[in-house]
Amino acid sequence: MRNFALIGAAGYIAPRHMKAIKDTGNNLLAAYDKADSVGIIDSHFPHADFFVEFERFDRHIEKLKYEKDLFLDYVSICSPNYLHDAHIRFALRSGADAICEKPLVLNPWNIDKLQRVEEKTGKKIYNILQLRVHPSIIQLRNKVANSLKDKKFEVDLTYLTSRGNWYQTSWKGDISKSGGIATNIGVHFYDMLSWIFGDVQDNIVHVHEKDRAAGYLEFENARVRWFLSINSEYLPSEVKKKGQTTFRSITIDGEELEFSGGFTDLHTLVYKDILDGYGYGLSAARTAIEIVHDIRNARPEGLKGEYHSFLNR
Ligand code: NAD
Repeated sequence: MRNFALIGAAGYIAPRHMKAIKDTGNNLLAAYDKADSVGIIDSHFPHADFFVEFERFDRHIEKLKYEKDLFLDYVSICSPNYLHDAHIRFALRSGADAICEKPLVLNPWNIDKLQRVEEKTGKKIYNILQLRVHPSIIQLRNKVANSLKDKKFEVDLTYLTSRGNWYQTSWKGDISKSGGIATNIGVHFYDMLSWIFGDVQDNIVHVHEKDRAAGYLEFENARVRWFLSINSEYLPSEVKKKGQTTFRSITIDGEELEFSGGFTDLHTLVYKDILDGYGYGLSAARTAIEIVHDIRNARPEGLKGEYHSFLNR
């Protein structure tokens, strides 16, 4: 049984990590969050210690080591994006590997620096890239790998996931903390696309606003028009009529990729992979971090060239 600590325990995604730790037969020793609404811990690890101050959490981890011979194997990181870098460093300094939420960091050079921390400490950094363990995505990757080497697939990716006004008030609406909508929401998809279709050849941004972003990405094996939004106004009317708040569509050469199901428990699959000695680390995370950094810093071109059809709405 491995020992875990968890940072960001009161947030939305933390329960999936608690479940993954439990489902893989491991133990949560301690958790930390600056907010104290963490009753959810009782559903998974009622005996875990909990801290709302970093200093006390840090001290506790040290004391477990030196007074009780209890060592941390992993620190799971579910804090806001801009804090991942600092929390990863804490994990490795404490003698643990880090399992960090997406986006691993906000900028490519953060990865270079973290690589040095890995080398110095001999500990590893893993990233939650859960679409890479989704059965339909693995199937698609195999299909593309078996197709003609010089084939370019035509891909249209649309992801609408409605969020209320709270989003803009929270750290997620602050570009310096979340990286903006393309970084925070899109990173899963850019990672998936580059994992399936190869190296990036072109990255053009058409629109990048607080509640929507769209652009064109060209990979070795695909030309992709993408559109993301958290604004429910962009939901297709048939989706709205059904009362649904999310719309996800990926068409490849005009054919819809069926991947509506299979999203539950992907975190547990990622944990299993890591515990089995696999898992995706710094080098795997790099391409998507480069893509989101470039999107964040690009000057949007407006409705020119290969833009997504939703921009005409
Ligand atoms: P959230 O705002 O619900 O939770 C973040 C938590 O971190 C909060 O409880 C907050 O109090 C805590 N926090 C803030 N500053 C802190 C600090 N200095 N020290 C300790 N705790 C601090 O956000 P969330 O939606 O749970 O997102 C958390 C992370 O998970 C983000 O990196 C996000 O991008 C990622 N995420 C991943 C997925 C996925 O599908 N893999 C989905 C949602 C979010």
